[in-house]
Amino acid sequence: MKKKVLKFGGTSVGSINRIVHAAKIIKKESELGNKIIVVVSAMAGKTNELISLSKSISNNFNKRELDVLLSTGEQISCALITGALSEIGVKAQSFMNWQIPILTEGENNNARIINMNKTKIDNYLSIGGIAIIPGYQGVSSLGEITTIGRGGSDATAVAVAKIFDTDSCEIYTDVEGVYSTDPNKIPIAKKIDKISYEEMLELSSLGAKVMQSSAVQTAMIYDIPLQVRSTFTDRQGTKIFNKENIDYSKTVTGVAYSKDDAKITLQAVEDKPGIAAEIFEPFGKNQINIDMVIQNVSSDGKTTDITFTIKREDLEKSLEILKKNKKIKFKNLSYKDNVSKISIVGAGMVTTPGVTYRMFRALADEKINILAISTSEIKISVIIHENSTVKAVKKLHNIFNLD
Ligand code: ADP
Ligand code: ASP
Ligand code: MG
Repeated sequence: MKKKVLKFGGTSVGSINRIVHAAKIIKKESELGNKIIVVVSAMAGKTNELISLSKSISNNFNKRELDVLLSTGEQISCALITGALSEIGVKAQSFMNWQIPILTEGENNNARIINMNKTKIDNYLSIGGIAIIPGYQGVSSLGEITTIGRGGSDATAVAVAKIFDTDSCEIYTDVEGVYSTDPNKIPIAKKIDKISYEEMLELSSLGAKVMQSSAVQTAMIYDIPLQVRSTFTDRQGTKIFNKENIDYSKTVTGVAYSKDDAKITLQAVEDKPGIAAEIFEPFGKNQINIDMVIQNVSSDGKTTDITFTIKREDLEKSLEILKKNKKIKFKNLSYKDNVSKISIVGAGMVTTPGVTYRMFRALADEKINILAISTSEIKISVIIHENSTVKAVKKLHNIFNLD
């Protein structure tokens, strides 16, 4: 007998037919003799719908109430899936975040799961029941309802796997696994059978939303193997695990992209020690993450240009911060919000020279201008004009033999 977490994403529970189908998968797993905890997302589109309801009241909707609102999406799908299981004769019960409870810390809309009380669920599993719990949410130590960030049901699934010490954590979704790039946008993408935590973490933080990045990070820290698989086909999915288990035959494992970046350039900034710190200090204080930073060599020894990228949603606030910053002097401030970030990821890059050159040459051949670059051991990212996104992804996918 195995103890399993089965997580169903939004599309997998996106309609009543799909909920009934997911219930059949759960029933089958249970009939194999497994103890099962199910983590469910809100029905596809529900969380977005709730966000737009809040926005129709205010763009600055009260954060506490936003969590109360957003957490209802998963409550609906928990009840529906539990009802569907009862209907086909399976013993199941839903447990809400506050009933378990799932304890979180951190601010509203962006909390982290730190623990769960196991008692009620363990008792229920021990009498042969299946526990259905909502992803994406918890309660704070003060009993306040919290949510843990978009895509957070993946993080709930990993936390359940860790806290309940399950034998597996299966992420059921609308694609057959992790692909070399988004199969819905680039149909030539290939499914990856096995991938390391490190590569998956890079891919997901660079835009492959098939797994939420903080879920992958927790899985990596605690060495919890994950399996991403389809709710709609029986085919084998993708295993995400420790890199010792992986055979690296390819230099590049995947190409990811995101269209949620913006680029800011400060021209003719005074070139003196401490200037970068002066520029970026207020960003940290305002919880704005800086991604790439490029500082040009000063030609006159007096001034330099600094370019950096941020999340697009932070652009307005960032411009305000820069204009208000009296500690820095610059001649001109320019920005672009129609950029995208394209990244190649692969653990095999560490041992293969010339990858950077091949990437830049390939983009040049397509007449794609690179606006910023950042590299780490296993990834290279570039910022380009948003219009060239698909062309760039296709080209890189091709030249690194992923087609
Ligand atoms: P769920 O609702 O099941 O959590 P998501 O929509 O969050 O599903 O993630 C699945 C989606 O991720 C797929 O439909 C696909 O479009 C997208 N995706 C982006 N990059 C990749 C990739 N490299 N491999 C697989 N899917 C990807
Ligand atoms: N429903 C939440 C969202 O759409 C959490 C999730 O689906 O993982 O972000
Ligand atoms: Mg998701």
